This record gives sequence, structure tokens and C-alpha cells, in this order.
Amino acid sequence: MSGSQKGGAYARALARELPLEHGDLRAIASRLGLQVREVDADGFDGALIRAREIPLGTIAVRQSIREAGRKNFTLAHEIAHFLLPDHDQTELVCTKSDIGNWGDWSRELEREADEFAAELLLPASAVQPIVESAPPSLQVIEKIAQRFHTSLSAAAWRYCDLAKQSCAIVWATNDRIDWSKRSSHFGFPLQKGAPLQQGTFALQCFAGTPGPRKPQALPARLWISATGFPEAIWEESKALPAYNSVISLLWIKS
Ligand SMILES: [Zn+2]
Repeated sequence: MSGSQKGGAYARALARELPLEHGDLRAIASRLGLQVREVDADGFDGALIRAREIPLGTIAVRQSIREAGRKNFTLAHEIAHFLLPDHDQTELVCTKSDIGNWGDWSRELEREADEFAAELLLPASAVQPIVESAPPSLQVIEKIAQRFHTSLSAAAWRYCDLAKQSCAIVWATNDRIDWSKRSSHFGFPLQKGAPLQQGTFALQCFAGTPGPRKPQALPARLWISATGFPEAIWEESKALPAYNSVISLLWIKS
């Protein structure tokens, strides 16, 4: 079983035993024998401290995490470390870049924990109908983040994980692609670290000009350099000043 299958399978098994109501992970943590504490911390976003030889533990979550959705995702990620096999260090400390770091899954345990958290908070069976209810847009992704009490980045990642349209999410920081997630039908590479091109709404957002409120057509070459690309790509971008980032939805209409 690969990491992603393992994380997802454990999340589905947990959801069958302890259904998640209104995104209330604290109730689930409590049933699992986990105390949740919000703490003043600089060095980490979430941590799991286990009791030795008995199935109890404490999850510490950094109090100053700005969004409730991101806090909830962090909690789900730490629950994963408690439940998943081979995650059984006595103490696990996860920094901001360990949790929901969709661009770098070089660390197997963090990847498994993120997959678990994404499936627990954003179950495919509940999210898929929303993904298919409307054409791709950031509005749909924001709706998913709110309804399922999770971060915008997790909702965006999950959206493209499930979408049947040819679309992709790009998260850019400092005018460059930080990470991207392509739907299975989006067949063109988007290079991590590549600079955003002049003419994209994403770069305009970094310059302080608000992006369009729904996807707009642009020459596809602004985003895609691979051969065989179509003439137009639809882009919607939004600045996220608190993260010094811009999120973009790309869509190739069929
Ligand atoms: Zn972790």
C-alpha cells in the first residue's frame, strides 16, 4: 500500500468508527484518548506527545495559527501521527513546512499524515458532488474550505485531486511557483520554482492589481511551455497577502 493509499484508508476507517460532525476534530481526539492544547509556540505548528506504553497522548497546536481551517488541518495531521503505523515516535514535532506542504512530500511520514488529514476533513464522497456542481473557480474551492473547516490550500489541493475537468492550482510565492496540483486531465507540467510570466493575473496580483472574479481567457503560452498546448487557458487569481502568496486556478476548457 502506498503512503497516500495508507493515509486515506486509515482516515476512512476512522470516519466509519467515529463520524466527524461539523468538522469537530476535538471530539474525535478526545474519544481517541488525546488531549488537545493550544500553546504559545514559535518552533512548530503541531506536536504529538505520547504516553509511553499506553495509548494516550497530547496534541499541542500553535495558538497563533491565523486561520481556524489551518488549525483544524494541523490537528487532523497530528491525529494521523497518533494512529498510523510506523509513526510511533514518543514525540513528534511538525513545523509549518511539515504540515500541508503540498509541494514537498519528500518526507514519507508527513505525506501520509497530510493524506490522512485531507481524506478525514475532505472525504471524497462528500466533496466530489460539490466539485462537479459548478465549473472550476476559486469560489467553489473557498466554499469547500469553509464547509469542511479546512485550509484554502488543502481544499484547493483536494479539488484538483478529485476534479474531472482539465484544471490545476498554482500557489506562488515571491513571483514564483511554490507548488501546484494538476487534475488527472491536465497534461502539462508546471515547474516548481518557475517565475510567473508577465501578462498573467497572478503576477498582476503580486503588483497589487486584483485578479478577475472568475476565470478569464489568456494565451496558454503564459503558463505552459510544453509542446502541444492549446491556444487559451482560463485563469483566476487571488492575492493572499497574509501568506505573501497568490493562488491561481488554471483551466483548459474542452
Ligand atoms: Zn507531521
